[in-house]
Amino acid sequence: MPISPHVWIQVGEYEKMRDNRVKRERKQINMQGLILEGTTEDSVRLSNNIELVADLSPRQVRVEIHAAGVCGSDLSCVHGKYYMPTPLVPGHEAAGKVVEVGSAVTYCQKGDHVILSTFGNCGHCPECEDGHPGNCRNGGMGGLTQPYREDDQLLYNFANIGAFVQETIVNENQCIPIPKEMPLASASLIGCGVITGTGAVFNRAKVQIGDTVVVIGAGGVGLNVIQAANLVGASQIVAIDRVAEKESLARDFGATDFIVSEGEDFDAVAAVKEILPFGAHHAFEVVGHTGLLSEAINMTRPGGNICAVGVPDLTATVTYGFQSLHQNKQLMGIRAGGAKPRKDFPMLADLYMRGKLKLDEMISNTSGLEGIQGAFDAMKIGTEARTVLLPHG
Ligand SMILES: [Zn+2]
Ligand SMILES: [Zn+2]
Repeated sequence: MPISPHVWIQVGEYEKMRDNRVKRERKQINMQGLILEGTTEDSVRLSNNIELVADLSPRQVRVEIHAAGVCGSDLSCVHGKYYMPTPLVPGHEAAGKVVEVGSAVTYCQKGDHVILSTFGNCGHCPECEDGHPGNCRNGGMGGLTQPYREDDQLLYNFANIGAFVQETIVNENQCIPIPKEMPLASASLIGCGVITGTGAVFNRAKVQIGDTVVVIGAGGVGLNVIQAANLVGASQIVAIDRVAEKESLARDFGATDFIVSEGEDFDAVAAVKEILPFGAHHAFEVVGHTGLLSEAINMTRPGGNICAVGVPDLTATVTYGFQSLHQNKQLMGIRAGGAKPRKDFPMLADLYMRGKLKLDEMISNTSGLEGIQGAFDAMKIGTEARTVLLPHG
């Protein structure tokens, strides 16, 4: 906001006053960001006029977003499948730099590079105390606030973050510091796609050395199920996808077998059982298709795990044949990889820095915020793993 110099201010006083004003109003600098106003891809538009409205509370942090991956959940959010109020700033898979911290913040400091977590958990309820921040009783995960506005209109954030904007405000425990040498575009993926896939393997299914695994869907999350299963020593990892071009990437990440699901009479269960006659120890459904979930149950051997990683419309109903689950199988709901972000994110960043976790290979494309429609198009075609938006170019 420009300040008019008044004639009665002494020379030098104006500059001093302007500097103070700039400091106080730093959060009111207009930013570029994306705003969702409906339930179609066309209802996402670029704004150059977004402002942060709130001062930081003692445990909040202001973060400059430098990289934000476009995840399947962003498309689901835009399509109204999560029933979010609008107008809303989408985006939730992000990394950036801390630019301001509240008075009581101790976990990170100005200048830190951080991966953002969607968990705004309280840290002190019984579930948090028990080590399950994703189950927080105080509405911590995927919550909504309105930290910005465009003109007089307040804007919600998606999943406690709202990352498709140049700056956002989050809680202290959503900021997980990482080494400054780590590229932020690669780091951003850990915040959702990577933890959702690897966490399903490490935290929930607890895949053991020698186990067999089926992964339905070899996109951004599926590739991380594959590489995590490979890291823990799964003996066979069977990937299924409708796009044949994904085979080489899936094999690079550790898939031992690749099945293309094409044709009207394609039978996924029969195709898997040709490779694993008794079924797999673990079947991961990553697409978010309820019909595939019932097929995943039939691909699993007695005693096995069926992992519902993909998220359909939140009101969807799943049906399965009783007998298919009856033989001591576990059907697991898995949200965000059962993550413990403060433990898991540094561990994943460390594996990357040591060359043991693939992240760069997942980035098919980078773009400014205006690239969102292209990212959605690529996602629907299914040939690319991830587009990462760079709000600061
Ligand atoms: Zn809690
Ligand atoms: Zn996501």
